[in-house]
Amino acid sequence: MLSVDRIGARVEVEGLCRTYADGTGLLPTDLVIESGEFLSVLGPSGCGKSTLLRLLAGLDRPRQGLIRVADDVVCDAERGVFVPPRQRRLGMVFQDLALWPHLSVAANVGFPLRVTGVSRAQIARRTTEALERVELAAMAAKMPHQLSGGQQQRVAIARALVARPRLLLLDEPLSALDAALREQLRAEIRSLTTEYGVTTVFVTHDQAEAMSLSDRIVVMRAGRILQHGRPEDLYHRPADAFVAEFVGIFNHLPDGGGVRAERVLVLDDDPTATNRDSAGAKPRDSAPNSLVVDATVRSVVFTGGAYHLRCEVAGVDRPWVVPHARAHAPGTALRLALTAGDVITPAS
Ligand code: ADP
Ligand code: MG
Repeated sequence: MLSVDRIGARVEVEGLCRTYADGTGLLPTDLVIESGEFLSVLGPSGCGKSTLLRLLAGLDRPRQGLIRVADDVVCDAERGVFVPPRQRRLGMVFQDLALWPHLSVAANVGFPLRVTGVSRAQIARRTTEALERVELAAMAAKMPHQLSGGQQQRVAIARALVARPRLLLLDEPLSALDAALREQLRAEIRSLTTEYGVTTVFVTHDQAEAMSLSDRIVVMRAGRILQHGRPEDLYHRPADAFVAEFVGIFNHLPDGGGVRAERVLVLDDDPTATNRDSAGAKPRDSAPNSLVVDATVRSVVFTGGAYHLRCEVAGVDRPWVVPHARAHAPGTALRLALTAGDVITPAS
């Protein structure tokens, strides 16, 4: 096993703001990222995730605010401080598979070292080491076009880590890959960043990705951070319905608020049937704190082992999702049960 210094920097963002002519972008934002932390920035397209990342990288300048990486102020709008990206000691990977097409895999990975004036022998050794970490040592002499998309993205990750950055910035690095590969690379990214001890900011619009990878998640909407916390915190104590919806399937109630799809049970008139296989959950309409909602089945999808129902509920625009149910024909009237304690009320 190769020994690696633990090098992750603590990052502090104070009042950071970069808006565009139309008023979108990043509104004044405060954020602290701990040394070695894996932080995901989660939110819908256009909410300002990439704007934040580009500011951290030094690819863009803020209108206001400052960024501190370890003890260095890398930008301070007020005092006119701006450290260019190359001097920030960071690694970056973006969504598009942006390797240099005319350079071999090894030359791509070694490139960040070449500009730092490290000896040729060192470059060769560290390039091999980085390629071994992503299990591509055998591909060193190949050209990028000879690699699959997943392999190319692994090369990009090796290139981002080769100079041992103190901060790793990843902007939807898995979006261009198919689902199976995405899941595999997701796990690899997490174990690599832990191994390197590098502070990581991972931008994604995919909640499953953020939930499974992160020490902490920041949820953004329209240029602002709505909430940050551990995945469990966001899931169990979302600040509002928007966050709740972003970290799980959320069924709305007519009077505001809602309930997580997996907390909904079908009250079945067939006493021998249960819509949960192993849990043995019983209908809870006799419990004092349960709520019952009348619904009509609109569609049924077999998910293997169980059915996924979409149901119409009076007073609610969007259909309710009921996973892990028994099959019910479209048009069937159902009573759905939930516990009052599971209801999430919106903050605003
Ligand atoms: P995300 O990465 O979350 O999808 P972005 O940070 O790329 O969102 O963009 C946030 C908002 O800022 C969007 O409304 C986008 O149109 C706008 N924006 C981003 N970059 C520019 C730019 N260079 N010029 C003008 N508007 C921009
Ligand atoms: Mg983006």
